[in-house]
Amino acid sequence: MSEDSPAKESSLISDRKCGTCTLCCKVMGIEEIAKPQGVWCPECQIGRGCKIYEKRPAECQAFYCGYRSWPVLGEHWFPAKSKMVVVSELAGTRIAIHMDPGRAGAWREEPFFSEIKNWSKMAAAQMHQVVVCIGKQAIVIFPDREVDLGQVADDERIMSVETRTAGGLKLDAIKLKADDPRLAGKDVGKVHVV
Ligand code: SF4
Ligand code: SF4
Repeated sequence: MSEDSPAKESSLISDRKCGTCTLCCKVMGIEEIAKPQGVWCPECQIGRGCKIYEKRPAECQAFYCGYRSWPVLGEHWFPAKSKMVVVSELAGTRIAIHMDPGRAGAWREEPFFSEIKNWSKMAAAQMHQVVVCIGKQAIVIFPDREVDLGQVADDERIMSVETRTAGGLKLDAIKLKADDPRLAGKDVGKVHVV
């Protein structure tokens, strides 16, 4: 799976299992087998599991979504039903909500939208990011609005910035090439003051 693995097996919530869910095998990219985000892995038996479970890529072996490990996510976040896979990325500086492209707007429904907005408030206070991902499309969530960056290529990075305006501090997001000097020495997941 791309980015960070969100949880160690020892930190999983004991009574939460994947069960009939296989959504991460669709929404997440798997570098080791060049599986893009947003399409079913050819090895997935949808709703049942992995055809190559014993030999699945290391990325898959290490992956557990937020539903399996974060008590703050209620039962309504079960990915097979919510159609969203919540993941901690970039060393915990980004909460990513990976959408099933077949239900790309589900994050705008309640109670999800209000919860995501609350996360964005907490994230902004820590200078962290909240991003909704629909395949390669990225929508950065701020407390007061959302910034749709469109498709973000593999060689691009999302940079959140805080600017001082006459009306006060304003949060915004831009996408930059990974080698852009403005990113030099910076944690990509964090908000940067410009
Ligand atoms: S998305 Fe989460 S609950 Fe669903 S199969 Fe993957 S790890 Fe299990
Ligand atoms: S290899 Fe198996 S566990 Fe990994 S994405 Fe494909 S189906 Fe899922």
